[in-house]
Amino acid sequence: METPILSVIIPLLNESGNLALLQERLALALAETGRSYEIIYIDDGSTDDSLEILCALRAADEEHIKIISFGRNFGKTTAMVAGFQAAHGELLITLDADLQDDPAEIPQMLAPIEQGYDLVVGWRKERMDRAKKKLSSRIYNTAVARLARIELHDMNCGFKVYRRAVIENVRLYSGLHRYVPVLAAWQGFLVTEQVVQHHPRHAGDSKYGTGRAAHGFMDLVMVLFITRYLRSPLRLFGWLGFFVLSGGGLINLYLALLWFLRLLGLADVPPIGTRPLFSVGILAMILGVQLISLGLLGEMIRYFTYRPQEEYVIKDAETPNILYDVTKGNYITDIFYEFESEKAVMFGRNTDDKVLWVPKSAIKGGWNKDKNTPQSISLSYTPKNFGWIPRKKQI
Ligand code: UDP
Ligand code: MG
Repeated sequence: METPILSVIIPLLNESGNLALLQERLALALAETGRSYEIIYIDDGSTDDSLEILCALRAADEEHIKIISFGRNFGKTTAMVAGFQAAHGELLITLDADLQDDPAEIPQMLAPIEQGYDLVVGWRKERMDRAKKKLSSRIYNTAVARLARIELHDMNCGFKVYRRAVIENVRLYSGLHRYVPVLAAWQGFLVTEQVVQHHPRHAGDSKYGTGRAAHGFMDLVMVLFITRYLRSPLRLFGWLGFFVLSGGGLINLYLALLWFLRLLGLADVPPIGTRPLFSVGILAMILGVQLISLGLLGEMIRYFTYRPQEEYVIKDAETPNILYDVTKGNYITDIFYEFESEKAVMFGRNTDDKVLWVPKSAIKGGWNKDKNTPQSISLSYTPKNFGWIPRKKQI
């Protein structure tokens, strides 16, 4: 199969009543775009006959359909990660399986990408969900938009279009799929929204209950920490600890002064040990020291896990990149493409004069043999021991 330009990723859990119609609408909409495509269904441990239905659909269209099937329910984020890993496209589209979003709107969702945006988030302006869900979602979206300083109305819409670079730089785990726009914007990607029609669920039940709000809140705390203090934990814990420690110190200083005055017979105050404020002062001092230590511990982890290529995100896909051999610490120079029979192999030579071979099967994303330049695969291929370093940042 040639490298598809669009990869549609669909996480699903017990959606047997929706899949046939979804596939039909998807195939129609995607054919209309005139681009090559693949559809990746991730069965997130369904217990109904979703998997059988998917297999039947694939039998009818083996060229476009891929199935990933989990042994148990790992959750939507993990299902999406599996889909992203398997995807070959330059643009990745995520969609819920319940037909609440209409695949016919894919062309509209792709339009902002043409204008240069990196991530397009669906905005369900009129939501077709129950009132309770709509209200909680509105509160949630306003809170996240304020706290994360991002102007989006509907963070958590399942309908999104990503450039490959976004997916390669955003780390998704636990409930972080809800915050992809925040994490992407933090990395410097251009994020925008596009109004989409929202429909009631075609069949089946919603998979999320009230537990989601509680988890979502903790995930938000994590996202705020990641986007603000991940790279310098001491700036959070250090200052927090400093203020708590100073507060405790001042309290105890005040009590000590009174104690002296009492010793000298100048003040008639109760003994220091009987005052509740004494406990507060001591506790605050201990807590302050612990917070500072926590910050230092964070800095220590940061120091020993330092990887220069993770310190920044390259935005400009056209920047010529060169391979950097992380294990040996030398650069791969002389990158060029050669074609051996059907399989293209990339050769590179490192500063030790060793040749690097890369099988074509390992290369995801655009393969542009006419251009004969490495940048067409630069953002999509990172073998284990090699990192792409832009020439710009080369010393
Ligand atoms: N989903 C999943 N794994 C889960 C929960 C949900 O893959 O553990 C899928 C589900 O099948 C659907 C999408 O995630 O395709 C969104 O779920 P749902 O429609 O239930 O969420 P809601 O629209 O009610 O927020
Ligand atoms: Mg839904």
